[in-house]
Amino acid sequence: MVERRLVAIRGTVQGVGFRPFVQGLATTFELRGLVRNDTAGVVVDVEGPSESLDRFLTELRVSPPPLAVIESVFVESAPPVDYAGFAVAVSDSTGSPTALISPDAATCEACLAELFDTANRRYRHPFITCTHCGPRFTIVRGVPYDRSRTTMAGFPMCAACEREYRDPADRRFHAQPISCHDCGPKLGFRRAGAPATEADGEHAMRQAVETLRRGGIVAIKGLGGYHLCCNAHDEAAVSRLRARKHREAKPFAVMVRDQEAARTVALVNAAEAKLLAASARPIVLLEARTGHSLARSIAPGVPTLGVMLPYTPVHHLLLADFAGPVVMTSGNRSDEPIAFHDAMAFEQLHDVADGFLTHDREIATRCDDSVMRVVAGYATFMRRSRGYAPRPLRLAIPFAAPVLALGGHLKNTFCLGRGHQAFLSHHVGDLEHPAALVALREGIAHATRLHGVQPRIVAHDMHDHYLSSQLAASIDLPAFAVQHHHAHVAACMAEHGISEPVLGVAFDGAGAGTDGAIWGGEFLLVDGASSQRLGHLGYVPQPGGEAAVREPWRMAAAHLSSAYGSDLDDLALPLLEERPREWATLRQMMVRGFRAPPTSSVGRLFDAVAALVTGRSVVAYEAEAAIALEALADRSTSRSYAPALHEAGDLLIAAPEPIVRGVVDDLARSRPSAEIAGAFHNALRDMIVAVIARLVRRTGVHRVALTGGVFQNTLLLERTAEALAATGCEVLVHQMVPCNDGGLSLGQAVVASALFTSMGA
Ligand code: ZN
Ligand code: ZN
Ligand code: FE
Repeated sequence: MVERRLVAIRGTVQGVGFRPFVQGLATTFELRGLVRNDTAGVVVDVEGPSESLDRFLTELRVSPPPLAVIESVFVESAPPVDYAGFAVAVSDSTGSPTALISPDAATCEACLAELFDTANRRYRHPFITCTHCGPRFTIVRGVPYDRSRTTMAGFPMCAACEREYRDPADRRFHAQPISCHDCGPKLGFRRAGAPATEADGEHAMRQAVETLRRGGIVAIKGLGGYHLCCNAHDEAAVSRLRARKHREAKPFAVMVRDQEAARTVALVNAAEAKLLAASARPIVLLEARTGHSLARSIAPGVPTLGVMLPYTPVHHLLLADFAGPVVMTSGNRSDEPIAFHDAMAFEQLHDVADGFLTHDREIATRCDDSVMRVVAGYATFMRRSRGYAPRPLRLAIPFAAPVLALGGHLKNTFCLGRGHQAFLSHHVGDLEHPAALVALREGIAHATRLHGVQPRIVAHDMHDHYLSSQLAASIDLPAFAVQHHHAHVAACMAEHGISEPVLGVAFDGAGAGTDGAIWGGEFLLVDGASSQRLGHLGYVPQPGGEAAVREPWRMAAAHLSSAYGSDLDDLALPLLEERPREWATLRQMMVRGFRAPPTSSVGRLFDAVAALVTGRSVVAYEAEAAIALEALADRSTSRSYAPALHEAGDLLIAAPEPIVRGVVDDLARSRPSAEIAGAFHNALRDMIVAVIARLVRRTGVHRVALTGGVFQNTLLLERTAEALAATGCEVLVHQMVPCNDGGLSLGQAVVASALFTSMGA
């Protein structure tokens, strides 16, 4: 008996070859009807025998096209209308747009084969793409997604491309960004400071490759912005890039041609290999191979390498022609937002790059590379951006109202929430520069348009001096200030769909506390809208405030002072003897409390211990010292420094002093620094376990969330999670968003929604 089904499919189902896939499937099962796009996704109207309909619907869910992500499928029955065949019908563009835009995807295998096939009409076409790959998010200006609303609008298809676009049997059927040598964008090359393009097409590529061979730096226009690129084997070139970019030590990412090349420079396990090859093509942090041939200044002082594989046809051509690994780092100075407009890039990078490999297709929105790392077999985010944005996270608990969360001060992202969807933005960057605030505003305007979310409430950090908080104040909507570590814990809970109370361990560098101190070693009881501070790392002064972040010797001095008081003068520590005058000034500051706010930051404790153990008194970027300490740690040592807990009213204080004294004693006994670093990690683990054991008894809550940037330290994360689980706790860690401030906006959005609900609104 013939039956009919009306099927509404929601998710990332447009611009990914979904309609031809449905048509093919319907034909296989000999079903009749039609498929079309609407503003919310894809609608299928299909009829045939009920058994075939069931198999069709199962197959639809189980094996969609590679870039499709199905969020939901609604099926209804309807009286049959006796369709003649199966067709792709005209799109329905009524209604407000909610269909999801796909993230950008790496060049697929089929396109790659054509790119290097001399007989193919797209041989070496730098913009080859199909329904399974290519730019999406970074070329879209509006919705619904079609070519006229992308930056491909200015490139009318030639007759040959048009034929492929219209042919349901073709891999390029309704692929919006397709083009060829005749109708597509063109490469161009210009020397830095030159007024115009000096070479185009193959000549441009040749110029770029020659510049790299000569040790030059080339700014290359990518999907979400410009990269700065140089020969990864050329020490002088890499050092020059560091000097010109004003980036002293923070590691650069490397792009290698394929997996095999990746294995020559780093150790790659199965999970890492899979991540490297994912269509999102993130930068994957890998353990560097000892004795690899790359320039040492790519990642000085760290045992890891950030490696990625080519993800655009331009990258594939460049790496094939250059025949060697290249440094690929964001096209910006220091930590400014990545340059993505041509004119801005030429202006900002004219004294950084020697030349520009550019093209005439505009980038609609900036989007830096994502950075990931495999921890205990799981892929985790350090930065969630290109390849993942703007794909929403699907939350178990819906938002009470459409919300915009503005994120933190560093590693800023913002988040739009609606229903069960959380649209965590691409990486915006550090909101230190006015340019970053402009980038944040642009990003928000673009995202609200794209996702059709009209926020009714705004969430921001409690710190009222942050640019993001000032932005919140300028938006004419009810605003909710969310404490930094409350947001960290809430983000972790949201990922796991948990609404019951959780004990949160939020360890990071800094976040404004409710008592005016700088928090960063927090034990919180979080229950939706409420967060209660139950314990924290004991306060020490942070002399010079922000200055202490770049000068870990200051934190070492503060912690030593706290641990030894006036006995400190009896210690002969080279770190302090090196700087007698500064040390005296610092002491004055701490005594008077002048520019020395109290802090419970575990990030700063890491800095202090790293300075003592390694003797390095200044760092070039935040967390450099902590990363060095993790790298140094002897993982086989079982030694630790015993935790000391005491109560102060309702608060449980974990004193840092015994840890610091333990480190100093070991240094005096000339214990190996690797062993001290290992013991310090164990001490933090033991401290967390001891505090949580007491809080479990006090609250009856057994669920513990580990969050905050300190938990990017995989040694600490793995050891702590394991030890807590052994005591019977359920441990939550981040998998969908970074544990650092890049994930903060998600937590802010969730807390603001809960506050809004609790107001009875
Ligand atoms: Zn393709
Ligand atoms: Zn064409
Ligand atoms: Fe934080």
